[in-house]
Amino acid sequence: MNKAYICFCESEDWRKLIWESKACPCREKKIEEQLTNWKKMLAHEIKEGQTVVRIKTNLDNPDPSERDWWIAKIVDVVEHPNPRAKNNHVWPSYNLASAVDDHDMNVNLIIRGQEHMTNGDKQKELYSYFNWEYPHCYYHGKISKLGDMTLSKSKMKLIMDELGVERYDDPRMATIKAFRRRGFKPEAIRKVILDCGLALKEVKITTEAFAAANKLFIGEANEYPFFEEMISLEVEEMIEGEIEGTKFEKGTQKFFVSKKELLKNKIGSLIRLKKACNIKLKEIKQDFASANFISYTKTNNPILSWVINPINIEILMRDGSTKKGFTTKNILKEEGIIRIEGLGYANIEEKNDSLIKLVFAHE
Ligand SMILES: [Zn+2]
Repeated sequence: MNKAYICFCESEDWRKLIWESKACPCREKKIEEQLTNWKKMLAHEIKEGQTVVRIKTNLDNPDPSERDWWIAKIVDVVEHPNPRAKNNHVWPSYNLASAVDDHDMNVNLIIRGQEHMTNGDKQKELYSYFNWEYPHCYYHGKISKLGDMTLSKSKMKLIMDELGVERYDDPRMATIKAFRRRGFKPEAIRKVILDCGLALKEVKITTEAFAAANKLFIGEANEYPFFEEMISLEVEEMIEGEIEGTKFEKGTQKFFVSKKELLKNKIGSLIRLKKACNIKLKEIKQDFASANFISYTKTNNPILSWVINPINIEILMRDGSTKKGFTTKNILKEEGIIRIEGLGYANIEEKNDSLIKLVFAHE
């Protein structure tokens, strides 16, 4: 075929020549000599670094990286040995392997990122030498960012080292594992990727768009209160009643509410306990408050969330921090994704009778 040659040049010398569109001496050697050297490579008589196999291209190609690029070389020191590779020393370049694989596997449509355009040109050239028909090929813009998170695997590793992140499913990482842990649905990931289309421009996905896509596939999610600090609130003179499955007896009922929210009110304030009853604050102390029952009637009084059976809750946030607080034990009946009051969606990761752990998904 006479379309390749074994190059013995020092890489610096070769590069100087190729930048000037000049052939190196190895390129002009006879086919027989090329084949002899090729056999020596296979027999491992030639060692790593002594030669590379180059494909003959148009030396006037405007892009120097596409001139006589290498297609195979010898690797003696294998970083990640594979038992199936045994005693093989000659290895194809990415472009040779990829092109031959595509052909052997009858690939007829290639969709690849725009950063692979030069590789596409190279592989097309290989196909033409073999008289193979090149598959249809579409390029899409590179999806470079998701919110403030990088999607580059090599940069990801650096960020992990820098932040001391140990797991790939850490919520600070833009990995499928992390998205799954946060409660993102596969359908949502598919949707945002498809929505990017095949335009040839750099694509940045916003966290808002990603969250919106996920909400489409989550469906209804129940909401639960979250108090970083709670305080007990005794409501006196309750009359019997049942609100949304919770029965209230006649007499004094003990609720727990957010300390921060309660302290925004004064003695004498009228408050509506969410979806329950109206009360009038009687007493507010550091760790205890009391009120009088007024009515069950719906009013426009300021609303306060409450729980009767509190449980500890921990939420692993997007920045790797953990929010700790209290919610209701009713949450234990849930699986998967729920809503946390004042925060947003979160995915249940672990639960027992005294603690529930969640991973924050999105607002
Ligand atoms: Zn050479």
